[in-house]
Amino acid sequence: MKAAVLREVGKPLTIEEVSIGKPGPREVLIRTKAAGVCHSDLHFVEGSYPHPLPAVLGHESAGVVEAVGSEVRTVKVGDHVITCLSAYCGHCEVCLTGHMSLCVSPETKRAKGEEPRLFREDLLGSNGERTSDTKMAQFLNLSSFAEQMLVHEHACVAIRRDMPFDRAALIGCSVMTGVGAVIHTSGVRPGETVAVIGCGGVGLATINGAAMAGAGRIIAIDRIPSKLALARSFGATDVIDAGADDPVKAVQDLTGGGVHHSFEAIGLKVTAEQAFRMLRRGGTANIIGMIPVGTMIELHGPDFLGEKKIQGSFMGSNRFPVDMPRLVDAYMGGKLKLDELISRRIRLEDVNSAFDELKRGELARSVIVFE
Ligand SMILES: [Zn+2]
Ligand SMILES: [Zn+2]
Repeated sequence: MKAAVLREVGKPLTIEEVSIGKPGPREVLIRTKAAGVCHSDLHFVEGSYPHPLPAVLGHESAGVVEAVGSEVRTVKVGDHVITCLSAYCGHCEVCLTGHMSLCVSPETKRAKGEEPRLFREDLLGSNGERTSDTKMAQFLNLSSFAEQMLVHEHACVAIRRDMPFDRAALIGCSVMTGVGAVIHTSGVRPGETVAVIGCGGVGLATINGAAMAGAGRIIAIDRIPSKLALARSFGATDVIDAGADDPVKAVQDLTGGGVHHSFEAIGLKVTAEQAFRMLRRGGTANIIGMIPVGTMIELHGPDFLGEKKIQGSFMGSNRFPVDMPRLVDAYMGGKLKLDELISRRIRLEDVNSAFDELKRGELARSVIVFE
């Protein structure tokens, strides 16, 4: 199958012929239909987060089940599915207490000695043996920039068949991350005030989630006017141009002292600190963005006397087998905006141009569509 491979940090992905294994007992083979190009892929291309290489990137996808292993119970051949990178085991402490997105059980991956899910057959040694050259690392349990995916059954969920694949794919990462941060991680209640820093795909989904949760005031913050305009159409009641105004002061002025919930959807030290400083007493700051490895965050200690909280939000603290079909219904019912998140539909071969566009930071999102 064709796949987009990262061989070296900082270099463009190469389109290669990659081999994929047969489903093990609890694995599912998926024909990829659509894959979003997410900013998190870019973090690994640029090396701000490390990953074993070479690797097939991509982690925001939807497709059709082609084959299932002998013990798979949750999906069947022909099912339309959304994938989720936070594969869960289902029986560890975090899973059983409802925090499946924090599961790190190794059993959803193949063990070290086992045949890898992805490899390069054409590079096998003369006796057919695997060398370190032939192995392809699977990225975040998925590797979606490929015509097929081989995943644990707890890394995908079946959805209704009238849901378009390109929009379903977005629910698999950015939309789950944004909406989940609001409804799960921070538990926004109707009428509360929300500020969202960064209006890319995740930020817009966070704004949309806040609107769905019934937040009173939803303040969008960005430096790009076109993104602020888009933020209004996703439900923002107020916008702040961070290039022109100090966002902390502007939020405090608008809300008479700060918001109940703030969400950082960029991944920078300065905006993470702003998210904390723009809280009212008792408020909660949620860091969604991927802050580069090694970066430290500084907070003003006495602010804790006002019971201000700061916490991470990973993949929207999801319980995705429940959440994603609900989000599909929300889209089909007109409450969740997905059409507006897609700026371009591209082919796998054009993936590097999608990264260039992400770096420029102007448009929302490119989606790779297969056939
Ligand atoms: Zn993502
Ligand atoms: Zn678990």
